Amino acid sequence: MATMAKKVEFATCPTCGQKLAVYPYVVVGSNVVCANPRCNTSVRVTGREPIRVTYIPIDQTRNPDHRPESYG
Ligand SMILES: [Zn+2]
Repeated sequence: MATMAKKVEFATCPTCGQKLAVYPYVVVGSNVVCANPRCNTSVRVTGREPIRVTYIPIDQTRNPDHRPESYG
C-alpha cells in the first residue's frame, strides 16, 4: 500500500536542472515528464518526503526491470 505524500515537492531534472513539481497524488513508482518542453526527460519517482527521482533512459521505459550495468 503506497503512502500518499502530503505536500507538493520539487525534484530537479537530472538532464536540464529544471525544478519539477511533484504533486501529492504522484506515488512512488510513477513517471514524471520534465516540465521543460525542450528537455522532455522522463524520470521515475523512487521516493517521497523527501522526493527522490531517477532518470529513465528512453529504451528502458517499456522494461522497468531491466538494469543495464554498463550501457553507453
Ligand atoms: Zn529536464
